[in-house]
Amino acid sequence: MVYGTGYGALGRAMMPIDIAVAGCGPAGLAAALLLARDGHRVTIFERFETPQPVGSGLMLQPTGLAVLRMLGLDRMLIERGSQIAHLFGQNARQRTVLDVHYAALRRTGAFGVGIHRASLFDALHQAAVAAAIPIETGRSICETEQSGGKRWLRFEDDSRSGPFDLVVDALGTRTPLAPPTGRALAYGALWASLDCPPEAGFRRDTLAQRYRRASVMAGVLPIGTPPGAASPKIAFFWSLRADQLAAWQGAGLDAWKSDVTALWPATAALLDQIDRPERLTFAAYAHRTLPRPAETALIHIGDAWHSASPQLGQGANMALLDAYGVSLGLRAERSVADALAHAVSLRRRHVHLYQRMSGLFTPVYQSDSHVIPFVRDTIVGPMSKLWPATWIQAAMVSGLIGGPLRPLGLA
Ligand SMILES: Cc1cc2nc3c(=O)[nH]c(=O)nc-3n(C[C@H](O)[C@H](O)[C@H](O)COP(=O)(O)OP(=O)(O)OC[C@H]3O[C@@H](n4cnc5c(N)ncnc54)[C@H](O)[C@@H]3O)c2cc1C
Repeated sequence: MVYGTGYGALGRAMMPIDIAVAGCGPAGLAAALLLARDGHRVTIFERFETPQPVGSGLMLQPTGLAVLRMLGLDRMLIERGSQIAHLFGQNARQRTVLDVHYAALRRTGAFGVGIHRASLFDALHQAAVAAAIPIETGRSICETEQSGGKRWLRFEDDSRSGPFDLVVDALGTRTPLAPPTGRALAYGALWASLDCPPEAGFRRDTLAQRYRRASVMAGVLPIGTPPGAASPKIAFFWSLRADQLAAWQGAGLDAWKSDVTALWPATAALLDQIDRPERLTFAAYAHRTLPRPAETALIHIGDAWHSASPQLGQGANMALLDAYGVSLGLRAERSVADALAHAVSLRRRHVHLYQRMSGLFTPVYQSDSHVIPFVRDTIVGPMSKLWPATWIQAAMVSGLIGGPLRPLGLA
């Protein structure tokens, strides 16, 4: 295990405290593991009866992998997932408009990992179980109450838990513990995990995408072998306006498949596996950033603090960095209030930078604009193949712009 308890290593670390972690996603599980290993008394609360991941695949970036390395889970996840060296996108005329190689970073070990959510969840969840962290399931949280510097969690069945010295809100983008902010995005996506027959010709090391203007985007992300599967899978996604979901359902699968294969014939072997609409899950996105991520004895991390469309593929990685920041804050300071301010200061700059970049890039790939994709295809696409654009793009998708690892002391 690479990660030592580090407890007291800085001389100022506070005594063990009672912590409620709300939410059993990547942010909550990572925070619980890190805080429990520092000696704090941690309990996780989750609404599902059986903790489970929702959705298909995602990409771990060097940022998220750096935190997973501290948890001793990176190697396992690299093995379970699929190492991604290249992000490649073409428009409907097969003109290359996205061509990002991690190798442009000129660093050893720079790659992404396409992974099924279940693989990430499973690794973190099993580590939490092994660390004997209590997980209270079937606990749907609706609010927190604060008194005398302590916090209580209140649940939908009107029961209460507490007092806690700290509540870590890792409830995701629709958290009931923070004031509503931000906006729902017009475009979401349909997702499915599928087999990838070799004859389809998709590479195991490439996230491949096809676009028709910015209103249509299809993608194929290799995600390795999820728990319980016998062979490697890919995540297939198809962007769709949330307000067109009902029309899509009404039109039927055959019409949709013709549309997809007209744009990208190689997907036919994948689409054959989709025999009913339920094989696809619709994910809606929201763009939001909380102005105040920390309050008295409460910190919001992961999507509960900031969420965006997954265009830059950073959400889970930022959630892991946030969790690490909270553990460092508690190690460095003597009071919870100072620890939370410290944790936020370690992460705020990177969070704001990526939220801005994500807001800027989302319309390039998911919007009704005709002008933006025209500029993308004719000017930005060709230019992006030249240095230093090659390096900038690789650093951007890696999550490394703004140097998020240095303040956290991560390599
Ligand atoms: C389609 C899609 C593709 C994505 N692709 C990528 C990618 O490639 N790379 C990447 O880094 N990120 C990606 N993301 C974003 C990433 O999934 C999120 O940023 C990440 O899951 C956030 O983790 P979290 O732990 O903060 O929140 P979540 O994963 O949302 O976890 C929240 C947890 O809290 C629980 N919960 C919620 N409300 C309550 C309640 N009231 N009471 C009790 N429990 C509750 C939930 O059940 C869940 O277990 C993608 C997202 C989507 C939708």
